[in-house]
Amino acid sequence: MIIILLGPPGAGKGTQAAHIVEKYGIPQLSTGDILRAAVAEQTPVGIKAKEVMDLGDLVSDDIVAAIVEERIDAEDCAGGFLLDGFPRTLAQAEMLDTMLLDDLMEKQERNLDAVIELRVDADLLIERLRTRVKETVARGEEPRKDDDEETFKYRLKVYQDQTAPLIPYYEKQGKLKVVDGMGAVDAVSAEIDAKLDQFRR
Ligand code: ADP
Repeated sequence: MIIILLGPPGAGKGTQAAHIVEKYGIPQLSTGDILRAAVAEQTPVGIKAKEVMDLGDLVSDDIVAAIVEERIDAEDCAGGFLLDGFPRTLAQAEMLDTMLLDDLMEKQERNLDAVIELRVDADLLIERLRTRVKETVARGEEPRKDDDEETFKYRLKVYQDQTAPLIPYYEKQGKLKVVDGMGAVDAVSAEIDAKLDQFRR
């Protein structure tokens, strides 16, 4: 099963990704997590990505596509995977299509099954951000630099400008499943399950 989780920052992708991983037994590939680990380890990619990420901008398509391409070739992804935070631009979506097509030609059948779009009001996103930052501080941890309110608003704009065009792109492919992300965590998970059950194998 190959699934994409799409939605603006704060929509609950991370929370629902954990649910999908547990329920369907596929690994989660979060480009944000992979990039943050690279930044922490100060790898060449991390050093390049840090400034861009702190500003709330997107890391280059080539860098993230290379990360994903390498990751999906790993053995644990043979039975499928969940993409969280990738693709984020039309160019990345086209790169992913090419990667899967290349696999197909090597006789490894891998098709994208579904794109789950978590749909949430912008006002709620700011509220969730404030809660997330408060909780992080309460745990004695440092909030993410890009969770500063102004930067967060900028990330919402980047989502609208660069990522939202993926919605019609996947709708045309017949892959889009829209899920109401405004409800309680369990209600959202249940709606995701209802949409994904047909792809279980
Ligand atoms: P969010 O909470 O906004 O969904 P992520 O953890 O997915 O955040 O990503 C954090 C940052 O990592 C992004 O703002 C961007 O700089 C970088 N990033 C993650 N995935 C991608 C991607 N597919 N393309 C470009 N940049 C990315």
